[in-house]
Amino acid sequence: MIGQKDMEMVDLKSLYRRMKSELDAAVLSAMAGANYINGPEVSLLAANLSKYLDVDYVVPCGNGTDALQMALMALDLKPGDEVITAAFSFVASAEVIALLGLKPVFVDVDPVTFNISSDLLEAAITPRTRVVLPVHLFGQAAAMNDIMRVADKHHLYVVEDVAQSLGADYHYRGGKKKLGTIGHIGCTSFFPTKNLGGCGDGGACFTNDERLAAKMEMLAGHGSSKRYYHDVVGFNSRLDTLQAAILNVKLNYLDEFLSIRQKIATRYNAGLAGLQDLAVPGMDALATHTYNQYTIRVFNGGRDRLQKYLKEQGVSSRVYYPVPLHHQKAFENWADGISRPVAENLCGDVLSLPVHTEMSLQDVDRVVRTIKEFYKS
Ligand SMILES: *Cc1c(COP(=O)(O)O)cnc(C)c1O
Repeated sequence: MIGQKDMEMVDLKSLYRRMKSELDAAVLSAMAGANYINGPEVSLLAANLSKYLDVDYVVPCGNGTDALQMALMALDLKPGDEVITAAFSFVASAEVIALLGLKPVFVDVDPVTFNISSDLLEAAITPRTRVVLPVHLFGQAAAMNDIMRVADKHHLYVVEDVAQSLGADYHYRGGKKKLGTIGHIGCTSFFPTKNLGGCGDGGACFTNDERLAAKMEMLAGHGSSKRYYHDVVGFNSRLDTLQAAILNVKLNYLDEFLSIRQKIATRYNAGLAGLQDLAVPGMDALATHTYNQYTIRVFNGGRDRLQKYLKEQGVSSRVYYPVPLHHQKAFENWADGISRPVAENLCGDVLSLPVHTEMSLQDVDRVVRTIKEFYKS
């Protein structure tokens, strides 16, 4: 493949070049303003996001993992209280649960959406359960209507991890809502490769509950609501002013970014349709998929061979995620020996292909062609 550029998972350099004049102006203006901590750009981002998401309160913080931490800390949980989350996911949600002395309870996922199975949710509830923490993985919504129904019935909090799905719409109880604003608290990340990514770390929580918003703000500000008076043991997590300045620019393009991702996915879906050993991402009819990842399943043990072939042809791909959370060493204290078969199978057959805002349909066609060559050879 001489002369052909490698196809990477993301292309942040080209995105920057495309947005350079606006981004540079925003950063230079924030530099000159010199309010590097909690500057006006940060409250502006909170206001802009609250409008975009149609949610009353946005509490910015240092990263998506901190967002999950301040959300769970705001709920006044006791050590050993149980938090139900997906067995197939990024580690952050489970990690924060465990760090706070709570018990992560891993529920198997749906084979179509890869998200926590609402059918299995109710059976996982015990008298110690306090929270359900669905992760909207890869850009796709968990079954929020069912999750909220079960949670309401058992008086549980719902904390949504929307780090990979910010901007997705969801048909909730007849109306349309942004994902992350349906449960009691939504948590997101502005890691550079997320749907709305900064040029560094960042995160935020959303809620319509004034009391929870105030609590989260206090917790992430050293447990203080009046300077140097500390009511609870908190921590320190702030969104940088420079990142907020960047995110204020990029938020204006979020819908455009999502529609590029969706067009790429549609092209992949059409190109890969009908391949025997491969499944394209499934769709929840109630949600827009934002394709933070375009993740296929490769059956009959071919995943690793396909990945190797793609690499030889200059096409990157990634296995998100190779180990289900209930098999991770970090969570062995909570191991119950019970299988989560869907999560375990997914770890063996998922493969995420390149999808990003700078990718052309020709790029997609090249990946599709390469995959078809693999199956012919
Ligand atoms: C990225 C991510 C996080 C953590 O975000 P950071 O900003 O990297 O701390 C949490 N949950 C999910 C699902 C993520 O993809």
